[in-house]
Amino acid sequence: KAKEQMGNSHCFFEKEWNSNTESKLSLTRKLRRALENDELLIYYQPKFQIASGQISGMEALLRWYDRDTGMMVPPKEFIPLAEESGLISSIGEWVLKHVCTQMKHWLEGGYPPLRVSVNLSPQQFQDDKFVDTVRRILQETGLSGEYLEFEITERVLMKNEETVHQVLRTFKEMGVFISIDDFGTGYSSLSYLKQFPIDVLKIDQSFINNITNDPDNASITSAIIQLAHNLNAEVIAEGVETEEQLHFLRDKQCDAVQGYFISPPVPPHDFAGVLKQHLV
Ligand code: C2E
Ligand code: MG
Ligand code: MG
Ligand code: MG
Repeated sequence: KAKEQMGNSHCFFEKEWNSNTESKLSLTRKLRRALENDELLIYYQPKFQIASGQISGMEALLRWYDRDTGMMVPPKEFIPLAEESGLISSIGEWVLKHVCTQMKHWLEGGYPPLRVSVNLSPQQFQDDKFVDTVRRILQETGLSGEYLEFEITERVLMKNEETVHQVLRTFKEMGVFISIDDFGTGYSSLSYLKQFPIDVLKIDQSFINNITNDPDNASITSAIIQLAHNLNAEVIAEGVETEEQLHFLRDKQCDAVQGYFISPPVPPHDFAGVLKQHLV
């Protein structure tokens, strides 16, 4: 039966792909040009530590400013495309280099020791040179690994491949932190949590959304917070938009929050202002 379902979803996928082939192809071409022409940007969204009331880090979020249309293309539109076309390796490298350079610059400019997180796609783990690329970028930019965090999804851990274990262990040796993004939305069993070196669980925003009026989401969120703490991991809630949500999470002893209530993702030159707002 499972096979039947897989077959169906495969067909569905093919149909979707075919009907969109032309636009996808031209979009992929445009994306490659965007990478070459520096039309990609990074926005930064702060992470707020509830206990200290201070910013403890930020997430780097990729943006594409399409000059043809003068519009900002959201990552949901082009990351999947980059993943399908293989362009994600080069884009991922661009992101990491850009972020590490920015972070080094900020630290030298007197910023407190914040940690910046970068999202990784599963495909990047299939690239044999990935670890070397990360090591080289840290060396070239002079950023110490302890200021860097990689956000991976359960999709990566699901395969439970030896290479993923090895890659993550190497990152740990470099001092880099590992977090699981969109936690709770994947299909994997929980057993991987003790098999992989995980530092942070990020509770998916779909649970946080209506946390204050959906008892199921409230219990799931509480359970994830306890799970994280029992595993000696940090836990952060994504998509926090209201004060009520923040209070709920504080009461449940969630470590940190990220979301519009604190700040939306902002361009780098606006980040100093965000930091200043939260300095006591
Ligand atoms: P994500 O890593 O789960 O990032 C969180 C998303 O939630 C971001 O969307 C962020 O702008 C949005 N968000 C933050 N606070 C709130 C809130 O309070 N309410 C709501 N409704 N949304 C909020 P964004 O920037 O559009 O990114 C979407 C996804 O694209 C990311 O999800 C991530 O999976 C992917 N992505 C972004 N940058 C990169 C990148 O450099 N590399 C890779 N591989 N993926 C990336
Ligand atoms: Mg993320
Ligand atoms: Mg997320
Ligand atoms: Mg996501």
